[in-house]
Amino acid sequence: MLLGAHEGIAGGVSTAFARAEADGADCLQIFTRNARGWAAKPLEPDEVKRFQGEARRTRKPVAAHSSYLINSAAADRDLRKKSWDALADELDRCERLGIPGLIFHPGSHENAAQGLELVAEGMQRAIEKVPGKAKLLVETTAGQGSSLGWRFEEIAAIRQAIPGAARRRTGVCVDTCHLFAAGYDLTTEEGYHRTFQELDRVVGLSNVRAFHLNDSKKPLGCRVDRHEHIGQGAMGLDPFRRLVNDPRFAEIPGFVETESRFKENIEVLRGLVRR
Ligand SMILES: [Zn+2]
Ligand SMILES: [Zn+2]
Repeated sequence: MLLGAHEGIAGGVSTAFARAEADGADCLQIFTRNARGWAAKPLEPDEVKRFQGEARRTRKPVAAHSSYLINSAAADRDLRKKSWDALADELDRCERLGIPGLIFHPGSHENAAQGLELVAEGMQRAIEKVPGKAKLLVETTAGQGSSLGWRFEEIAAIRQAIPGAARRRTGVCVDTCHLFAAGYDLTTEEGYHRTFQELDRVVGLSNVRAFHLNDSKKPLGCRVDRHEHIGQGAMGLDPFRRLVNDPRFAEIPGFVETESRFKENIEVLRGLVRR
């Protein structure tokens, strides 16, 4: 697995590459805009050029993570419309920057079946509005409250509701902390194999384009999303040792999303790789 982290973009998106280098990362995840507000400045053509120059210089693969405000499944029409527009805007930014995948949380809705259809509709609209290659990657969630996407069946239902041509521009991002919180036990050998067998059967491993590598502060099946430093939470090191040595994921980028200490967490993960 390629190992990286979610890097900051203070000073412009192009500055994230130098941070990834300082952290000893193989790859990086970024926001392409302010993740905590609806208002987003357009990307300046000069900054796009600098970003592409840095991508060529460092040869580090990049993924984008969408704003946390987006809820494509929102029951409220205005919020849903705003979310769908923001998703399309973020996909457009990825296309312009040459980022192959935009990771986003499916959102929440009291009625899961209705919510999943709304997510699919928002994705289809964004993909049709933004021609190109960049993919929308649905992230597996912890299932907190009425959050969607915590069961593999829900992720599959979203993708299946999108017609073929647009569906080819969708994929999945698997978050280890969220899996564990959702009740998928990666801490035992048997649980690890069962989880990925099920993911393969329901979603297809070829659709997995990225991992989020986080330990969990909270116990198995708690459905609460609290990231912990690798090996220091309820999951421990074993799940991560299995993942970084799993040949099925050798070419896939994995991003640490702890609040701090990226370099240290990447070093811990690298120390688990068998030579
Ligand atoms: Zn995540
Ligand atoms: Zn999380």
